[in-house]
Amino acid sequence: MKLYEYMGKDIFRREGIPVPRGQAFFNSAGVADFAASLPAIVVKSQVLAGGRGKAGGIKFPASATETEVAAQELLATVIRDLPVHAVLVEEKLKIDREYYVAITVDGGKRKPLVIASAQGGVDIEEVAEEHIVKFHVDVHAGIQPHFGREVARRMGLPAAESKQFSELLVKMYNLFRKYDAELVEINPLVLSSGKLIAADAKLTIDDEAAFRYPEWLPSVEERTERELKAAAIGISFVELDGEIGVMANGAGITMATLDIINHFGGSPRNFMDAGGGAGTEATAKALEILLSTKPKTIVVNIFGGITRCDDVARAFAQVKETIGIPVPLVIRLVGTNEEAGVEILRQQGMSAYRSIDEAVAKAVELAAKEAV
Ligand code: GDP
Ligand code: MN
Repeated sequence: MKLYEYMGKDIFRREGIPVPRGQAFFNSAGVADFAASLPAIVVKSQVLAGGRGKAGGIKFPASATETEVAAQELLATVIRDLPVHAVLVEEKLKIDREYYVAITVDGGKRKPLVIASAQGGVDIEEVAEEHIVKFHVDVHAGIQPHFGREVARRMGLPAAESKQFSELLVKMYNLFRKYDAELVEINPLVLSSGKLIAADAKLTIDDEAAFRYPEWLPSVEERTERELKAAAIGISFVELDGEIGVMANGAGITMATLDIINHFGGSPRNFMDAGGGAGTEATAKALEILLSTKPKTIVVNIFGGITRCDDVARAFAQVKETIGIPVPLVIRLVGTNEEAGVEILRQQGMSAYRSIDEAVAKAVELAAKEAV
């Protein structure tokens, strides 16, 4: 669960990490009044994506009136395919230096990892390796001030900033643990008249802990309407931007199907894991959701274990009879009650494949034809 910058900054403020004075607005009412109370102004679009600066999502209006106009404009824009959720109106900082500091989890080492650089403000991927320092954290010891001072020294920060940086890192780490974070990132951490201030805030909470923060959930929902509709009937569904719809039963077989589609030069439009034991009703509903994404063709990959092939076949037959299936359906059906399933499909004029390679090759061919 990613949090918007303004939410991250609220938490920073609560945990004693300095942030600029600011307020989030969901429409332009009150923006001008608040802006009038600031000596200099920045307006930042709230979207769950980085690189907003480059994408035109950050503005520096010269007056309260200009701020209101900027807020209206930004609230109506789409940045990196995401509609702007809110705007954060803040006191514009005088920036003397920009640093980078983050705490994340190194899954391989099973330890938190501090990543820092004196060259912040840009994408960390663009910073040369020799200018980035990385320190693993022993979770039993946590981050003590001497650890923070060592990070500051290796970053090459002036001695005068070392204590301040170290105190900030301790607070960041405490926050990281307290909020079940997977990532706490400050880029840029700004040096402004001798003070370190978080000019940006990126906070990602472990999805497994999201239930502890019900107040944040609704506004950070990243799933599409169809994905939510599928979730409501217990089916995981993810929308992508290719051409071939995918339905399979089980996470492993679903991922393998996506790989095989890519292998044969196709591109998945979505994927649906109908899980084990999905009956006729659920399968029919799932297929309706899948069809609403208008794929060029659909690959169905069912390995019947708990799921019975005849149930799956009956579901397809039912959907074909009731709402119709307007796109070619390529079905690979093997396993429990396979013969009965294939017979049901045959009666509906649909054929089934035993080999997934053959099925996917056919689907890719059909999608290419549809494209012409
Ligand atoms: P991002 O591009 O989405 O990561 O958004 P940031 O919040 O990191 O802002 C991008 C850039 O805008 C920063 O690196 C700064 O150069 C600039 N910026 C953001 N806030 C301020 C501010 O308060 N004062 C000044 N002078 N520049 C700012
Ligand atoms: Mn940033």
